[in-house]
Amino acid sequence: MTSFSFPDSFLWGAATSSHQIEGSNILNDWYHAEQSELIPPAGVAANSYEHSHEDVKLLKQINANAYRFSLEWSRIQPTPDTIDDKALAYYRNILQCLKENNIEPIVTLNHFTVPQWFIERGGWLHRRSMEQFICYVDIVMEAFAEFNIKHWITINEPMVYAFNSYMIGIWPPFETHLSKAFLVIEHLKRAHKYAYHTVKEHFPNSSVSFAKHYRWFHPCQCGSKFLNRISCGIRDFLFNVDFFDYAMITRTMDYIALNFYTGEFVKFTKESMLGDACHCRMDDFWCNSLGWFVVPEEFTRSLKRLSIFRKPIIITENGTTEHNDEDYSQFIHEHISAMAKAILQGVDIRGYMYWSLLDNYEWAEGYNANFGLFTQDRHAKPAAKYYSDICKNNSITI
Ligand code: BGC
Repeated sequence: MTSFSFPDSFLWGAATSSHQIEGSNILNDWYHAEQSELIPPAGVAANSYEHSHEDVKLLKQINANAYRFSLEWSRIQPTPDTIDDKALAYYRNILQCLKENNIEPIVTLNHFTVPQWFIERGGWLHRRSMEQFICYVDIVMEAFAEFNIKHWITINEPMVYAFNSYMIGIWPPFETHLSKAFLVIEHLKRAHKYAYHTVKEHFPNSSVSFAKHYRWFHPCQCGSKFLNRISCGIRDFLFNVDFFDYAMITRTMDYIALNFYTGEFVKFTKESMLGDACHCRMDDFWCNSLGWFVVPEEFTRSLKRLSIFRKPIIITENGTTEHNDEDYSQFIHEHISAMAKAILQGVDIRGYMYWSLLDNYEWAEGYNANFGLFTQDRHAKPAAKYYSDICKNNSITI
């Protein structure tokens, strides 16, 4: 066993997103979908809209020096022609509070939810969706000009959004057309590119990226190994590689904002070129309470693979939902150790944000998954103490 120290300026913290913690927002597409009972209600969530200073206290409690959170577009621009100064004041207040506590903000401009008016105009399918997004980004840039925000994320997990909302239709607006999913991906790519340049105009010294959900994919052992390998390759290219390639070609990725959780064994199906996720190996691996494979060695391997882009990496999400407390600490230990191993192999990693600071609204799962270091009513779980020691010491025993 050896003690591994992380680089001096390493960012330690946790991540959240607006709709998942704020509560009581009636202006976005998720709230409207809830009314038709197509998804579970978010309700007051962790009520962070009333208690954001409490959240900053939780960050202090874990010795965090960074916090990734997102801005709710629908609150800031409740109609195409109005700006809500109160909503802007709420986020400015969080930024001020973080500043006073020496916590670096990592600000996400869009984390899945969009204003209801934007969806009614066609959402990300509309050819002018990028312009509408940039109009909102401009509002944010002007409102936060006085803050020295060093890290921005334009769009959270564009491929997950396109897949869930437009291909398999489990999230609003519940579309199931491959062609629509591809069009949305094209628009999200351009929205990212324009947002990147807009942020750089206002914050030239900041680092800007999009948050990439990266998964490991392996061909499944059952059925035709050859065909499984082909489906696996296509899935890997579309899900993992494509958006990175776009950002590299357009030079719109200053760092890699990596969200890492799990992976899939892929099997061929006649119905889809992407194949299907096979569950036949569930008994061979640690699976969390949502049935996701937990394989920390794959974290090291994925980080090594991503180092080919020669960009600094910040882990902007990594976390789990488990049946018992010990497994959370074990997850954290094994993943931070896996990250340390990648650093030892030369990968340039600058920070780690645990997902999530507190239990929250887990999208289509509602409140049936608990990723938090703290409960929804802000009580520390044992993992919060475990993680706080790593953040304090800036080191881990591996
Ligand atoms: C998303 C989060 C989500 C987490 C756990 C990520 O893909 O960005 O919003 O809560 O995964 O499912």
